[in-house]
Amino acid sequence: MYLQTIKAEKSFLNQLETVIDRRRLLVDEPMSRHTTFRIGGPADYLILPSSAEEVAAVLSIARSHGVPVTILGNGSNVLVLDNGVRGAVVKFGETMGYIRHDGDVVIAGAGASLGDVSRFAASCELTGLEFAVGIPGSIGGAVFMNAGAYDGEISNVVSAVTAVCQSGGKLKRFTREEIRFGYRDSVFQHNDCIVCEVELTLKYGENSDIQQKMEDYTSRREAKQPIEMPSAGSTFKRPPGYFAGTLIEQAGLKGFNIGGAQVSEKHAGFIVNAGGATAADVLALIGEVQRRVHAEFGVKLHPEVRIIGEG
Ligand SMILES: Cc1cc2nc3c(=O)[nH]c(=O)nc-3n(C[C@H](O)[C@H](O)[C@H](O)COP(=O)(O)OP(=O)(O)OC[C@H]3O[C@@H](n4cnc5c(N)ncnc54)[C@H](O)[C@@H]3O)c2cc1C
Repeated sequence: MYLQTIKAEKSFLNQLETVIDRRRLLVDEPMSRHTTFRIGGPADYLILPSSAEEVAAVLSIARSHGVPVTILGNGSNVLVLDNGVRGAVVKFGETMGYIRHDGDVVIAGAGASLGDVSRFAASCELTGLEFAVGIPGSIGGAVFMNAGAYDGEISNVVSAVTAVCQSGGKLKRFTREEIRFGYRDSVFQHNDCIVCEVELTLKYGENSDIQQKMEDYTSRREAKQPIEMPSAGSTFKRPPGYFAGTLIEQAGLKGFNIGGAQVSEKHAGFIVNAGGATAADVLALIGEVQRRVHAEFGVKLHPEVRIIGEG
C-alpha cells in the first residue's frame, strides 16, 4: 500500500510538479491509450519525462513517498492487466525523443521511436539500423529487449547507454560489454537502471543500398505480419530449434480465439486484439496455446510479451 491519505497524495503530486510540467503528469490514465495492444486499465499516475535529470528527480520523489514505479516505452511489447498499474508509470516517448549524430555515431533519447532513428541514420547515409525500420518500439525499449529482425539486432550497433539507476539515483554510462546483450535480453532486465540515452555506432554506406534494404524489410513485414491489427508483436520467444508460430499453426490454433483475443489468421506467432479484448482474454489464450503446443509437441513456449500491472 502507498499514499494512504489524500494529504500524502497531494504532497506527492505537489513535489512532482516542482520537477515536471503539469501537462506531462496525468492521473488515472487508461493504459490502453499507451499500448499497441490497445489493452490495459488505468495507471494511477503517468509521467512523461523530458530529460534524464527529470527521470532521476521523479524516481527520488517516488521513492521518498513509497510509490512504485513502472517504466514504459512505446508499449509495443507489453500486456497491461485490466485493473491497471498502481503507482507511477514513467513513459519514454516523444518528450524524450531527440536524435542527433556526430559523424558515424547516432545519439538518441530513450523515447525516440526506433523507426525514426532508423530513418534518421539512413538520411545520414549510415548503415546498420535498416532492420529496425518496422519495429514499433522506442530505442530504450529496444535496448531493454535487445530487439532484432531479419539480419540485425540492436546489440550489433549499440556502443553505450546512459541510464539512471534507482538505487543511487545517479546517471551511469554502460559500455556495450556491460550491457550483456543476449537473445531478447540485456542487463537492464536484471538491474534497477533505466535507459535514458542510447549511443549507436554505425558505418557509412551507399544510400541506395540502405533504402533498398529498408523497403525490402517493410514489404516482407507487411506481407507476413498482422500489422493492421493491435498486438504486441511475437507473443512467445523462439523455442530452441523451433519457430513458435509454426508450432502454433501446426497445433491447429490459427484463428483460435478467447473473447476478443485471437491467434492471428495471418501469422500464428502473434496474438491480436480482434476487438474489445481484455488482458484476461489474452492471458487465457496464452495459457491455452502453451498447453496445446506442449501436449502436441512437448515444447514449452515462454512469453516474450512482458506482463505489467494488476489482474
Ligand atoms: C507489430 C509488431 C511488430 C514487432 N516486431 C518486432 C521485431 O521484429 N523484433 C523485435 O525484437 N520486436 C518486435 N516487436 C516487439 C517490440 O516492438 C519490441 O520489443 C520493442 O523493442 C519494444 O519497445 P517499446 O518501447 O515498445 O517497449 P515497451 O513495450 O514499452 O516495454 C517493453 C519492456 O521494456 C522496458 N522498457 C521500455 N523502455 C525502457 C527504458 N527506457 N529503460 C528501461 N526499461 C525500459 C519496459 O519496462 C518493459 O518491460 C514488435 C511489436 C509489434 C506490435
